[in-house]
Amino acid sequence: MSLDASGISWTDGTLNSLYGCKECSVGCRLCYAVNRVYRHSQNPRLHQDGRFDGLVERITLADGRTTARFTNRLLFDPSHLYAVLKDCKPKMIFVNEFSDLFHSATPEEVILEHFRVFKAASWHQFQVLTKRGSRLKDMNAVILRELGAWPENVWQGVSVCSAKPVEMQRIDELGATGAHLRWLSFEPWISDMNEPLRKAIPKLRAILRKNKIAWTVVGGESGSKDDTNLMTLDDARYLIQESRAAGCKVHFKQLGTALAIQLGVYSTDRGHRSKGGSPDQWPEDLNVRQWPEFSGSAVWADTEFVASFKAGEWMHFEPGGVKYPTF
Ligand code: SF4
Repeated sequence: MSLDASGISWTDGTLNSLYGCKECSVGCRLCYAVNRVYRHSQNPRLHQDGRFDGLVERITLADGRTTARFTNRLLFDPSHLYAVLKDCKPKMIFVNEFSDLFHSATPEEVILEHFRVFKAASWHQFQVLTKRGSRLKDMNAVILRELGAWPENVWQGVSVCSAKPVEMQRIDELGATGAHLRWLSFEPWISDMNEPLRKAIPKLRAILRKNKIAWTVVGGESGSKDDTNLMTLDDARYLIQESRAAGCKVHFKQLGTALAIQLGVYSTDRGHRSKGGSPDQWPEDLNVRQWPEFSGSAVWADTEFVASFKAGEWMHFEPGGVKYPTF
């Protein structure tokens, strides 16, 4: 078992210990994870033991088309989590591309087990990203009680996909945690065509400074060719400029399909170029790909880790008990 290869420019690979989710933000509108998990459920090799059952349902839209939707059920496979302890080459690892670690259905003990592994695998850098800011804030106390402090090799991030308060409030929720390295994913950024960002959030740099944000990732929606979900060029520039003014490192990921089309650089090549993900497609001032400074031993150690779950025994979770908002 090893890390999954990732096409994501800001990481070395993904740790996929959880699958399944539920839309909870404007940024989930074109979630690619749902189609990937659906394809897994149709793959006899991956799905031979029924592990992907019930994670995704097919629904029929008003116009007669069918589409895949997450059901709120999660699959947890501890084997993937524990595999990082045996991976001796230090890496930046994105945690759960096809789920959200802080989803309401993820039991507290499962979140804690992730953090125990992150702490033990001190030679890696774990890039955790969530859209569930309130659960993150609540779990902060549990993590501090269990571990005493956040592991230094955890980069905790939240996604912020528009200037609306429901998205922006995640920055303060992240700021309320004890995470050493805090970051924001402004991706997919959805612009309000009626209000420029500098008017909507004029104090962005102060918000970033107050919450000690070290790194921001900026990008438009991957989308299809017909998608009109546009991150405007002005908004992209404003997000970069404010991040820099606040002392953050910045990583511009992609224009997004709609902006690439508008700028005349859309390519029919498969992969990154179709969504404006190649630096030669960008205006020069967007060409910035930085990472934050981080600490860590970067030396592998054959750690004696006492696992709380059996590797090889996967399980399903559904929301219940304590309820957290899922939308
Ligand atoms: S939180 Fe992420 S994985 Fe979950 S539905 Fe939204 S975009 Fe998809």
